Amino acid sequence: MHIGLDFDNTIVSYDALFHKVALEGGWITNEVPVSKVSVRDHLHSKGQEPIWTEMQGYVYGARMDEAVAYPSVLQCLTWAREQRIPVSIVSHKTRHPFSGKQYDLHQSARHWIELYLTDATGPLVIPECIYFEITKDSKVKRIADIGCTVYVDDLPEILLAPEFPPSTNKILFDPDHHHHAQDLSRASHWDDIHHRLESQWQASA
Ligand SMILES: [Mg+2]
Repeated sequence: MHIGLDFDNTIVSYDALFHKVALEGGWITNEVPVSKVSVRDHLHSKGQEPIWTEMQGYVYGARMDEAVAYPSVLQCLTWAREQRIPVSIVSHKTRHPFSGKQYDLHQSARHWIELYLTDATGPLVIPECIYFEITKDSKVKRIADIGCTVYVDDLPEILLAPEFPPSTNKILFDPDHHHHAQDLSRASHWDDIHHRLESQWQASA
């Protein structure tokens, strides 16, 4: 068994951080719900796409350390390490933001992993198993190349990509129930992901 995981919006939750940064900038009021999508939709409705674009670079670059892991991510990764199941993070992430200050987004993400995906025993995902790919195509290719038996992502387009390896089990992480129409195995909480991984592990043992 080899577990593959997406990074942004699968392991890392940005809902509170985008809301906080948008409030600080005076771009939203407290009435906007505490979610990344709500902040984005609010700025789009006001024709403020450039602010949204720049805010993403700022959050993923300068403010990354304030983002948090989704509940139960650490418990699941701790279980995998106890079972000695390899875990890889395979993410699609540009090196620098599309606009604004040129933060190194890969470095910010690796630093977050060092801070959050670790405990007294050591790292929960070793640095050699962390892949930041520049394009979606290279991400899907990486998932195939390293032989993930299961892969978790919040984006249906990755799991449904024509080149996605047919032998890899797919789990769509959909915490806010955005993708009801998709014909994919969905999980809305990491407890559920953990449960399914345990079942797959037991079936393969
Ligand atoms: Mg993602």
